[in-house]
Amino acid sequence: MSTLYKWGAGRDPDHPVITDAYDEYLVTEDGEEIIDAAAGAAVVNLGHSPDGVDEVMAEQASRVGYTSTSYFTSPPVDSLSEKLAAMTPGSLNTTFLSNSGSEAVESAIKLARDYHVARGEPEREAVIGRWQGYHGATLGALSASGNTGRRTTYKPYLQDWPKIGPAYPYRWEYSGSPEEQAKAAAGELETLIKQEGPETVAAFIAEPVSGSSIPVAHPHPRYYQEVRRICDEYGVLFIADEVMVGFGRTGTMFASEHFDVVPDMLTLGKGMSAGFAPISATMIRDELLEPLEDAEHSFYHGHTFSGNPIATAVADHVVDRYTPELLANARARGEQLVDGLAPLRDSSIVGDIRQLGLMVGVEFVADPETGEAFDPDLGVYKQIFERAFEEGVYTYPGGGSVDGHRGDHLMLAPPLTLGEDVADEISRTVVNAVTDVERDLE
Ligand code: PLP
Repeated sequence: MSTLYKWGAGRDPDHPVITDAYDEYLVTEDGEEIIDAAAGAAVVNLGHSPDGVDEVMAEQASRVGYTSTSYFTSPPVDSLSEKLAAMTPGSLNTTFLSNSGSEAVESAIKLARDYHVARGEPEREAVIGRWQGYHGATLGALSASGNTGRRTTYKPYLQDWPKIGPAYPYRWEYSGSPEEQAKAAAGELETLIKQEGPETVAAFIAEPVSGSSIPVAHPHPRYYQEVRRICDEYGVLFIADEVMVGFGRTGTMFASEHFDVVPDMLTLGKGMSAGFAPISATMIRDELLEPLEDAEHSFYHGHTFSGNPIATAVADHVVDRYTPELLANARARGEQLVDGLAPLRDSSIVGDIRQLGLMVGVEFVADPETGEAFDPDLGVYKQIFERAFEEGVYTYPGGGSVDGHRGDHLMLAPPLTLGEDVADEISRTVVNAVTDVERDLE
């Protein structure tokens, strides 16, 4: 028996077998406990203890485990849709449920296309993304993604959609105040739309706060306010991909709230079920629905497991757990984590430390003065990950520059339920891991 699997940092084939989990801890088959400082892949926002999820699953399974959403609905689908409409900003009131973040993005891309076709603008095809953005592994979502490492072999299958640079203040070369820089960076979108011809552009997609490729990079709010203005001016739909940063991760319910901007569509996943079931959502603004409802042929789309009653019942239970108290804990523990990482500010291999809510990104560089990236062959991020892991802390690493688009980094995104003691242990372990690798590199 074998399983086709290759982990991002290449740590196969003898990865640990996890048989149990609770709170912030994963437990291996040998009884070893590992602190999950990445909440899986920024998923397990409520920690690993079920908090009633097991009962909800059993109850729903005992009633009805599956219905086709082509013709039927079910109480959890109706209840969750109502809750999501109430939780999300503006008139994002309509929900399309699917199973993964990638599918949520695919659905948003198709909806954007349908919207323009329904309004008589069928030449609007392109979905502008950003270099280093990540929106999913499926071919449409990957086409809109600028994460070069994940695109390489699949390029022949991808749509050749244009991209702007990332919202990455640490590496911006614009001058002026943070607000002026943000305005200039957002201007790249306007320039590109004009170059391409606005009549050919369907949508712009972005992670409001970057996740896997450049953890926690985020601009001054002016950036997204400009994005909103530009999209409105040129009739381009703005899709905010909050698959990773939605549901409290950045200290607000949705990351777009930091920028005071309401997107046309919002994609959600991960924290929506806090990892207990595969489920995702595409939220759509009311204004977009009118032309779609009148169109003869629109949104001919769906997945067998869309709105699966068990997964939906889990999400319906989980979203109620994102209370103001939980979000306050996320913000406090995030501050505590960066305070604990303070010794790294003087490290000769740390270029930037970024934090928003309970999401922390540490960027490793060969020269903090110039920001020069490490030679990817050194695998600095893997070395740091391994050191921390040996000490029982699982983090979310990334790096391995391809075409110069990525540097070495590590993300901390523990459960939002994180306790103070565990937060201290995470930062202590990461500081030690970085310091060890720094010494080895000298
Ligand atoms: N969008 C963002 C911002 C993500 O971070 C991810 C996954 O990490 C996805 C989309 C894809 O989600 P999934 O892996 O559930 O398909």
